Amino acid sequence: MSGLLNQLAVLLGKQGFLQGDALKDHPACVMQTPLALMRPVSTEELSEAVKLCHAAGQPVVPQGGRTGLVGGQQATGTEIVISLERMSQIEELDQSGRTMTVQAGCPLQTVQDTATERELMFPLDLGARGTATIGGNISTNAGGNRVVRFGMMREMVLGLEAVLADGTILTSMNKVIKNNTGYDLKQLFVGSEGTLGIVTRAVLRLRPMARSRNTALVAVSDFEKVIELLRNADSTLGGSMSSFEVMWNSFYSHVTNSSDRHRKPLPDNYPYYVIIEAMGASQEVDDVRFEAAMGELFESGLVENAVLAKSGSEREAIWAIRDDIESLMGLHPMFVFDVSVPLAHMQSYVSDIEAQLNKQWPESRCIIFGHLGDGNIHVVAAVSSGSDEARAAVEHIVYGALRGRDGVISAEHGIGLEKKSHLDVSRNPEEIALMKTLKKALDPKGILNPGKIIDLG
Ligand SMILES: Cc1cc2nc3c(=O)[nH]c(=O)nc-3n(C[C@H](O)[C@H](O)[C@H](O)COP(=O)(O)OP(=O)(O)OC[C@H]3O[C@@H](n4cnc5c(N)ncnc54)[C@H](O)[C@@H]3O)c2cc1C
Repeated sequence: MSGLLNQLAVLLGKQGFLQGDALKDHPACVMQTPLALMRPVSTEELSEAVKLCHAAGQPVVPQGGRTGLVGGQQATGTEIVISLERMSQIEELDQSGRTMTVQAGCPLQTVQDTATERELMFPLDLGARGTATIGGNISTNAGGNRVVRFGMMREMVLGLEAVLADGTILTSMNKVIKNNTGYDLKQLFVGSEGTLGIVTRAVLRLRPMARSRNTALVAVSDFEKVIELLRNADSTLGGSMSSFEVMWNSFYSHVTNSSDRHRKPLPDNYPYYVIIEAMGASQEVDDVRFEAAMGELFESGLVENAVLAKSGSEREAIWAIRDDIESLMGLHPMFVFDVSVPLAHMQSYVSDIEAQLNKQWPESRCIIFGHLGDGNIHVVAAVSSGSDEARAAVEHIVYGALRGRDGVISAEHGIGLEKKSHLDVSRNPEEIALMKTLKKALDPKGILNPGKIIDLG
């Protein structure tokens, strides 16, 4: 082992290879102490390091910004962490082709800001934007608030480069939208959480910059109307709707009443609250169109009450309610879930888990909110115990109720370690068997992020 560590230390140099006491101050080691940490500066350097690890059968764990929520980036004391933090450059922005070529360690926000400076837009957006990296976004197939219009990370990656388990560099930096030349290899690495390869660079698809943004918070009296509102708003807004975020009353009342951070834009006595946002080409024209669309929805009886943001700060105040995760911290101990359910089954799913939680823990709180436009909700279950037994019982309810409803145990965050034992709720045996075949083919020694998503046994 020390032979391998010495070889890596020589290859990567003092800045590129940390072990022992040198690990203490690195943020990757706050929650865990890995065997060592590699910080390569180039794909070639990483490739050479992975070749050495492969020869020695040494497990490695890729890390980006460590904002992942299912433990995919966690490393044990026998694993070497690969941090892409020194590979964070933007290599090229092609304005006419609308592509950006970036290194995997580049933070999402840097990509967004660079696109904006050139009057373009990278539509992926999520709360951890300042820290999460493009490599992490690709490896988790990140979603966020605008999926309803622009899709997930999978739809925003045109090409990528990855280092395979044996150190092979797979360069697949396609720049065109249409490329039907055989298997779409990049998709193997999107959403595979670092288990099939280490993403080093990517070609991202950019969009024209939105020149208008309109936001409304509306109150709705029942869930059927929420679904109808989603359908109507999308067509009434002529395809410009970029967000449709729903907060159940449990969420809105809790967030707006538990601190003095928010002024209530609407009273807290409605069953559902929806943030509708549209992005378009002209603020002047779109203001009129948005207002007319909201008026139409109001007159059709789908909306009980509404407030339209008249300024950037009013818009921020509305989104601040939706993004106020801090308020939920007051509910500790709690368990948080990120699931997808087809809209047709959403209401029965929520009623079912609420009833089951209530039956087992009469004092429990169940708070629901999420990206309903994509069928994705977050469930916060506070059952006044944070024990492993309570977690297992709550998971049994929240995941169990997905069975028979075509539900999915992870909408955005992946499987990592946390959801591994429930994978069979959403994937059939043949799918899991093919995942294992792929893993064995690409990483026969099992050195890439071992134990994440699936166990090979
Ligand atoms: C406040 C907050 C809000 C969030 N909101 C959202 C949201 O709305 N939507 C959403 O989808 N997620 C969300 N997340 C989760 C998280 O931000 C995303 O999963 C993000 O894509 C992870 O990026 P990262 O760079 O931090 O990756 P990490 O956490 O470091 O790693 C995540 C996984 O990717 C692997 N990985 C990282 N880099 C590479 C690489 N270069 N090559 C191969 N594998 C790699 C890791 O091994 C791990 O399995 C949120 C997290 C927080 C803290």
